[in-house]
Amino acid sequence: MKDPNIYKLLTPGPLTTSLEVREAMLIDRCTWDDDYKEMTQEIRRSLLKLAHAGSKKYTAVLMQGSGTFGVESVLSSIPSKDDTVLVLVNGAYSERMITIMEREGVAHERLDFAWDEVPDAGKLGEYLDAHPEVTFVSMVHSETTSGILNDIESVGREVKKRSLKLVVDAMSSFGAVDIDVPEIGIDFLISSANKCIQGVPGFSFIIARRALLEASKGNARTLSLDLYDQYETMERDGGKWRFTSPTHVVAAFCAALHGLKEEGGVKARFSRYEENEEALRKGMKDLGFKPFIKRKHQGPIITTFLYPEGVKIDFKDMHSYLKRHGYVIYPGKLTKADSFRLGNIGEIYEEDVKNILWLFKKYLGKINEKA
Ligand SMILES: *Cc1c(COP(=O)(O)O)cnc(C)c1O
Repeated sequence: MKDPNIYKLLTPGPLTTSLEVREAMLIDRCTWDDDYKEMTQEIRRSLLKLAHAGSKKYTAVLMQGSGTFGVESVLSSIPSKDDTVLVLVNGAYSERMITIMEREGVAHERLDFAWDEVPDAGKLGEYLDAHPEVTFVSMVHSETTSGILNDIESVGREVKKRSLKLVVDAMSSFGAVDIDVPEIGIDFLISSANKCIQGVPGFSFIIARRALLEASKGNARTLSLDLYDQYETMERDGGKWRFTSPTHVVAAFCAALHGLKEEGGVKARFSRYEENEEALRKGMKDLGFKPFIKRKHQGPIITTFLYPEGVKIDFKDMHSYLKRHGYVIYPGKLTKADSFRLGNIGEIYEEDVKNILWLFKKYLGKINEKA
């Protein structure tokens, strides 16, 4: 069968999904049927396994909405009035954590790092020693803003040394970068359906330390994002969501988890993404596009490129040229430099990387002709 994709997405979610994932959405399901609820339970069990977390100490809770809803759910319903959350900021998604807590009235502080540098555990340690009011540390793992992969292990050690709690937005890494949640000491990890597990958009999920989640009862600032309430319903009613759940998205996610297993699991997916990233970065560099992140901090998910010096490129024009030829690219999100991004995730393979590099070369040739 011909691939029904009109174009492929080189974007970090929604991303290009498999035919199996899309086919799973052809059935309309009922939210209180046992077979549907069992899908939710299977997803919850699979997510814990991916996180290396046992079901005694940890649980997985699904939450309607995009990834941000999951982050907001954790930050607005876990900390109590006595808690203070320190955010390690080095990109737009960690900045968003600050915005969430401003809106929700959660006490928070920030520690800023350059957007092309990973948060430094030594600086964090010094900060924590000087700020005993901090009870939670919150950070992003793969900062999709730039493509940098932050070091959650070294941060985790500083946090655990002081018996504080750790929140990690692993939206664009979970499922492709192996994360041992208990080993690192993550208390709440957030990710979503449409990133590296390669489902479609519609819900986020949280891997949570059970005791802390249970202790948060009554802390939520909102009704619909109350993480404890959602957990309580899912536990009590064997996979029932509190309010209408995205049934098609849930079925698609189940298929996506099977696809991840078939591919060979997290390690195999990591290798494919990393090979995509390396080939793209090298090919783009040869064409004159400079990667924004140094190689040692570059993650396998998405790469930010700066335009070749002296060449005037209109992003919209380049975007529509590439789209006409089968690939959609992503605008930049840096505040200081003109850039664009290429995602390496989803159903993207060596062949696609070759195609896209060839297209960029042709596009540059066209511009040079005009100039
Ligand atoms: C995708 C993403 C989010 C969530 O974004 P939504 O648009 O709400 O899905 C949050 N953090 C990171 C690092 C992401 O990549």
